Amino acid sequence: MNFCIKNDRLGTGMSIVNFIGSPNIGGELKAKFLIIHYTASGPEADTARYFSQDTANVSAHLVVRRDGSVTQCVPFNVVAWHAGKSQWTGKGGTRYSGLNNSAIGIEIENWGPLGKSAGGWVSWTGAAVDGSKVIEARHKFGVPDCGWEVFTTAQIETVIAAAQAICREYAIEDIMGHDDIAPGRKSDPGPAWDMAAFKASVRGGGPFQLNRQRALDIRARIASGEEETFPEDVVSALVAGQHPVRVFRKWRGMTAVALARAAGISQPYLSEIENGAKDGSLSVMKRVAALLNVTLDDLAG
Ligand SMILES: [Zn+2]
Repeated sequence: MNFCIKNDRLGTGMSIVNFIGSPNIGGELKAKFLIIHYTASGPEADTARYFSQDTANVSAHLVVRRDGSVTQCVPFNVVAWHAGKSQWTGKGGTRYSGLNNSAIGIEIENWGPLGKSAGGWVSWTGAAVDGSKVIEARHKFGVPDCGWEVFTTAQIETVIAAAQAICREYAIEDIMGHDDIAPGRKSDPGPAWDMAAFKASVRGGGPFQLNRQRALDIRARIASGEEETFPEDVVSALVAGQHPVRVFRKWRGMTAVALARAAGISQPYLSEIENGAKDGSLSVMKRVAALLNVTLDDLAG
């Protein structure tokens, strides 16, 4: 997926993305930062529509739905109201407060923290949330352990592509979570959003590790009895962000030397794949998947 930006509107090259304007805006924006949010809402809520009402008093530049579709609500050269009371120390020790005046905001539709009830996971509104879409984790700023709705693969791919376009077009110094600029007051995007992997992917320093999502997919397939059961430590290593080739190679008890030789590639090339420095070619990944007796999907970074 690839986006481009023309006249401060996100587009796909052929056309601009869906635009639902918000009246909740300020003056001119010269963006230095990109802030990632979740909406704390369910699939029925239409956040972009909500932002179009002046009574909402909030807005963001982009809203990304669970199906990966994106709506722009505010042009990127206009201040949107997504950050609220916030502060950040930028490069060279420059202090910023009220980050709306220096940041583009992306809202990703997601429930955020979830509570546990007798019947399973529930949102703050009491809505039931499918357990296969939930991880249990502690927020880095000490919100007690709870459930967090995972972001969909489609959302992750859309936000990466949008962030890449934004970073190409504007002098973006850094990408932060709302929780980074308003610690204690805000907890979005929270532990289900792998910010380090996301930033690496936006920079193009390596393939985005969708490992957590893949691990959850594997968990769901195990639950439905579709395939052999991977041990919990395999799933945990994937959730922790280790490259699937390394995780599955170790699980199969193969050394890097043996796998490289069997796949007909050099060991340094295999290391680069396992470090995320290189994507293996399709033919190499097919051979590796066959040797490790996993599917190609299980190995995709
Ligand atoms: Zn937020």
